[in-house]
Amino acid sequence: MSTTTTTGAWVIGSNMPGYLPSGDVYAVEAWEDAWAILRGDMERFAEQDDDMYHELDCGHTDEDDHESECYGSTRALLDAILADGERAGDFDHDTDVSIGLADNDDRVTIFWITWNGEATPDED
Ligand SMILES: [Zn+2]
Repeated sequence: MSTTTTTGAWVIGSNMPGYLPSGDVYAVEAWEDAWAILRGDMERFAEQDDDMYHELDCGHTDEDDHESECYGSTRALLDAILADGERAGDFDHDTDVSIGLADNDDRVTIFWITWNGEATPDED
């Protein structure tokens, strides 16, 4: 008698389109846990990106204009995406998620959750 069971897992990762995931890929049992991890990853991405706004080549010559118009733009984009998704009910049930976030240089990173019936949740 086999004791091997395949439970499946929600897999969480991020990558630039056409590239393999750059960071860690996680697998968890509960969708709520997957969503919490994905949200945390997206928030870190946005905060790190916004911290780099000093180096942005946006054409602003006035430092005050630059700060008020450029700082926090990736976080603002993320907040808008999350608010829209929550209004639409996209994030309140077990479902695949795919969210593209553009950084301040317009490079897009896709943050995703997908169900994989062959995966096993990570041990922690
Ligand atoms: Zn600027």
